[in-house]
Amino acid sequence: MAAKLKQSGREDFIILEQAKALGGTWRDNTYPGAECDIPSALYSFSFFPNPTWDFKWAKQPQILRYMQDFSKSFDIDPHIRFGVTVMAATYDEQGQRWSIKTSDGQIYTAQFLVSAVGQLHHPRWPEIKGREDFAGANFHSARWDHSVDLAGQSVGVIGNAASAVQLIPEIAKVAGELTVYQRSPNWIIDKMDRPYSRLEKWLARWVPGLAKFYRFQLWSLGEYFLWPMIQGSRLHSRLGVMQCKKAIRTHIQDKTLRRALVPDYPIGAKRVLLSDTYYPALARENVTLERRQISHITKTGVKLEEGDLHRHDVLIYATGFHTNPFLKEIEVRGQNDVSLREHWKDGAFAYLSVMTSDFPNLFLLYGPNSNTGHTSIIFKLENQVNYCLQLMDRADKKSVSVKAESEAAFNDTVQSTLKDLMWSKVEASWYKDGARVTNNWPWSSRTFKRRLRRPNWAHFKIG
Ligand code: NAP
Repeated sequence: MAAKLKQSGREDFIILEQAKALGGTWRDNTYPGAECDIPSALYSFSFFPNPTWDFKWAKQPQILRYMQDFSKSFDIDPHIRFGVTVMAATYDEQGQRWSIKTSDGQIYTAQFLVSAVGQLHHPRWPEIKGREDFAGANFHSARWDHSVDLAGQSVGVIGNAASAVQLIPEIAKVAGELTVYQRSPNWIIDKMDRPYSRLEKWLARWVPGLAKFYRFQLWSLGEYFLWPMIQGSRLHSRLGVMQCKKAIRTHIQDKTLRRALVPDYPIGAKRVLLSDTYYPALARENVTLERRQISHITKTGVKLEEGDLHRHDVLIYATGFHTNPFLKEIEVRGQNDVSLREHWKDGAFAYLSVMTSDFPNLFLLYGPNSNTGHTSIIFKLENQVNYCLQLMDRADKKSVSVKAESEAAFNDTVQSTLKDLMWSKVEASWYKDGARVTNNWPWSSRTFKRRLRRPNWAHFKIG
């Protein structure tokens, strides 16, 4: 958003960032093995390609560097106020301005307010009895404690999804023994990652159109293979299941362990994971997959419902994030003093994921129903930014807001479409708030691009 604001000649903006440095999820997640599970040539800005990614799926330090380089190239740093937490935002209808209150007591006034807080940044600690009693080191995957030396230690990891499958193989290499607590298995496909050669990097940089074509090919794979699977296509689901089972057979010899790793829910209902190293790690002698359910945590370890106790020196929680409600820590009040918390009390929603009625001039990036399980969120963000800039242009010096009836009609279609998708086939996941899928877009990413190309002005009030 900042880069595009600048490219369109708007310099009068600031970014309020509660941390001391930029990078969001790529600053916060420093666990061993942290890398992207979307190919980097696609998980990067179309207008800032990087021909020097070291791996097909770049590692966290390189992604963070990319973001820092991006910020420098577009001269964004001077716009950022670090260490400033937004506490509240209130819309003044008369003045058509947002008043933004921050932790340092400042009040900022702005015509437009853009929320770019992300969806995956509040670590979720599991509600397991006795968690505070554990005497050893323990931390969340997104708040890695690098002062803890895991070498030779008995380590327990709770959770086995996207973050866990990246960090478990790294811990397995150093820990004395490692127990992975699996509540439910995931569908995992071999990642087939590899470093890019010098020649490939050279070609990506110098052969016109090659990097673009490669990016398009990666996008197409998600769009035409993964997306139909999420929609429930039998053919694609069968092919996906075959791939996952093949990965299990290749890496795991023990038949009981093989069975324990096959999910009992349809492929695509939760995020399909990619890993070359998770199953080989489980097959190691020092690693145990514990499927029995946890009863509680004691001073010394994890007690199972069946009575056994696993003693640990260190416990790691790879238990994900609180993804709902959206913007939960900021008190946002729109026109007629409507509170956003109240507005979204039954689950967040928004018109085309970017605007919600009663909140004029408030734009949501990576807002409700914009997430995806099959492509790059950067692709979505670029489309959202382009759309929001057009709304800002049209508002000119005044305000723009979506009509409540247009938003309601859109949301009805979103929810009725989502009911038929795989995401609705599991009771709970981070995509859902209660029974509703609040985080994900129910159509393909090409539909997203098409719908957000130009605003339909009949759905907006300008004034
Ligand atoms: P997650 O997908 O929400 O997974 C949380 C894990 O913790 C699951 O295995 C869950 O089991 C388990 N869990 C939660 N509460 C538990 C409890 N009380 N007892 C036992 N187990 C419990 O979180 P995540 O792995 O951090 O990933 C979240 C999202 O972040 C991903 O879907 C992805 O979009 C993103 N991410 C991306 C990357 C990347 O490479 N770009 C890397 C990491 C994460 P159940 O499955 O049974 O609920």
